[in-house]
Amino acid sequence: MPSNQDPDNWTNAIAHVDADCFFASCELVRHPELIGSPICILSSQDACIVAKTYDAKAIGIKTGMPVWEAKKLMPDATYISADFRFYGLLSEKMFSILRRYSPDIEVYSIDEGFLDLNGTRALWRKNYKGIAHDIRRAVHREVGITVSVGVSVTRTLAKMASEYNKPNGVTIVPHQMIMQFLQRTALSDITGIARNRAALLQKARIHTPLHFVNSEIETIQRLLGKSGADLWHELQGRSVMGLELHAPLPKSMARTASMGEVTTDRKTIISHLTRHTTRLATELVTQHLLTRRLTVSLKLKASNSISAKIDFEYPTNNYFRLSHAVQKMMADLYQPHMQYRACGVIAENITRINQSPPDLFGHMKNDTKQAELLLTVDSVNKKYGRDTLKMAGAYSPQSSKACVRFIYPLITAS
Ligand SMILES: [Mg+2]
Repeated sequence: MPSNQDPDNWTNAIAHVDADCFFASCELVRHPELIGSPICILSSQDACIVAKTYDAKAIGIKTGMPVWEAKKLMPDATYISADFRFYGLLSEKMFSILRRYSPDIEVYSIDEGFLDLNGTRALWRKNYKGIAHDIRRAVHREVGITVSVGVSVTRTLAKMASEYNKPNGVTIVPHQMIMQFLQRTALSDITGIARNRAALLQKARIHTPLHFVNSEIETIQRLLGKSGADLWHELQGRSVMGLELHAPLPKSMARTASMGEVTTDRKTIISHLTRHTTRLATELVTQHLLTRRLTVSLKLKASNSISAKIDFEYPTNNYFRLSHAVQKMMADLYQPHMQYRACGVIAENITRINQSPPDLFGHMKNDTKQAELLLTVDSVNKKYGRDTLKMAGAYSPQSSKACVRFIYPLITAS
């Protein structure tokens, strides 16, 4: 170990950033008048509690509890229906801040991420504690929510560390502090040791994380298998569980929906397809993905579907290229006497931008320039509301006017 070069003995540095009571905190961002009073967030059908503030938790309200039961315990709390679209926007904002501190991030859930901080001390000219506090302050300042940050030498320890001093806390566990830290934690604090596994360990007289790391690895392997042995290494400070820096590549991405009416009108179908194509292209661009194959599918009133496919010469996420292909397929598929009730576009053969073949003719470079346009439209819409800016001719649920401008779309403001 390079302890002579590094007084803190950081052989590896992983941060875990976890938003505190995320959904409830998001609601407080837009309802600051509720700060200081208990809040419960309800599931989509308002059936049960999906999140709550710490004061609601202290009274005994649990995630998953039926609403009637929670209301009995706390009739005065504010009960709010979940708005996952809004929480998704704040989550994206939070992750864009985290990416400033490290390009190597694992998005673990909507409100939690792991950051590989190796090498970042030289960049920021401060220690990991200073960086962790900077992250915490930046998220609070720019998103309006609090996060807790743990930094340690493995992901398991980093996750336990972020949990240790919640809310709005920072916990740093370098190598030489691991045993001291584990002394203050319980088996249930280890991610990967749920109730059944803890009960099994207790039978073998392993009651605490310290007992766990001081056991023979053969014992742990026998009781919990390979994943238990991995945890044993991680808790000793040896990193064996790396970060998953990329979400798995989707096989296909689809934007399809009912048109809300049965129609024979070509213009109406095109306005819906323009909307789907814009959304699909925006999704490809924001996720740094390209597609090689596009399908247009039209659902007929008689519930059967017809579809057409186009394979591109090279992978693309260019809106203009995609919409041109959609128009071609539409010309093949559309028959005036038929009645249509739904339509959609589907991208397949998806690849990542940074793993695509060399750009021999510079097409892909041009596409990237055009992608910036979509990102701008997308960010304006996220800030000021869906469909504030849209491709001219795209169907909008707010307005039934559909002008048609399919291949050369203009952007209109509503
Ligand atoms: Mg959280």
